[in-house]
Amino acid sequence: MFDTLTERLAGTLDRIRGKGRLTEESVRETLREVRVALLEADVALPVVRQFIQDIEGKAVGQEVLGSLTPGQALIKLVHDELVELMGAANEALDLKAQPPVVVLLAGLQGAGKTTTTAKLGRYLREREGKRVMVVSCDVYRPAAIDQLRTVAGQAGVDFHPSDATQRPVDIARDALAAARKNLVDVLLVDTAGRLHIDEEMMEEVRAIHGQVQPHETLFVVDSMTGQDAANTAQAFDQALSLTGVILTKTDGDSRGGAALSVRQVTGKPIKFLGAGEKIDALQPFHPERVASRILG
Ligand code: GDP
Repeated sequence: MFDTLTERLAGTLDRIRGKGRLTEESVRETLREVRVALLEADVALPVVRQFIQDIEGKAVGQEVLGSLTPGQALIKLVHDELVELMGAANEALDLKAQPPVVVLLAGLQGAGKTTTTAKLGRYLREREGKRVMVVSCDVYRPAAIDQLRTVAGQAGVDFHPSDATQRPVDIARDALAAARKNLVDVLLVDTAGRLHIDEEMMEEVRAIHGQVQPHETLFVVDSMTGQDAANTAQAFDQALSLTGVILTKTDGDSRGGAALSVRQVTGKPIKFLGAGEKIDALQPFHPERVASRILG
């Protein structure tokens, strides 16, 4: 992720890096190039506009132009705005409630929900010492439940069995009862996805949400879908009041538009990045580190 963006920005920013003097015009020219680079990375247009506008106001001021190293000052400004755009700091899951803490995962089909449910289970077990149970409410996709059983085994977390003849809300209710009985710390609820957002699907996931009252409702989205990721997240947020987003497939050649747009478009933080098919390929999202990576 970000390879093209990093390359484009490196070319632009290298030209000003060591400059002892910058004019208002050269600052504007640099920002025009940054703007194009962001649009090519598929960052949502309103996000790009706001980003450039925010920097421009500061960049033509004395803080940059009057600095002894104006090139560096401008690059720092771009860096800080990128961090700000993505949410400033890492936002961890809020697991402080009375256990079992319920975490619901929602998203479109193929986004990576089932894989991510198991990865997150492993993460919470290994890193936070939690006892985790997972359950699948996907009664539509053949083998979805078996798939979760398999990956739950790899993750070393409890699997609550369900079957395709049950109603998804009943599955969720039963799993919560089982989690209570087994003194589970965190119950991860995997839900069904569709190829597109449709009312029936939203109604169902809303009903599950109402049934288990999750403390965290995470939207799992494929980063390869670029700025559309932010738009779908917005639709799910309206239905479910999301508490965060997990971006998957960041190991692919995604241009990074999703990572840079989601926070701004939805107001919801990206909490984790999925970066591979393996069970341990999940990492907390740190805006600072990502911004530094983008700027090389
Ligand atoms: P679901 O329909 O949302 O439950 O999606 P799945 O969990 O079945 O994932 C769909 C496909 O994406 C599977 O082949 C996963 O192995 C793959 N996948 C999920 N997350 C990632 C990721 O972070 N990186 C890569 N490369 N593949 C992923």
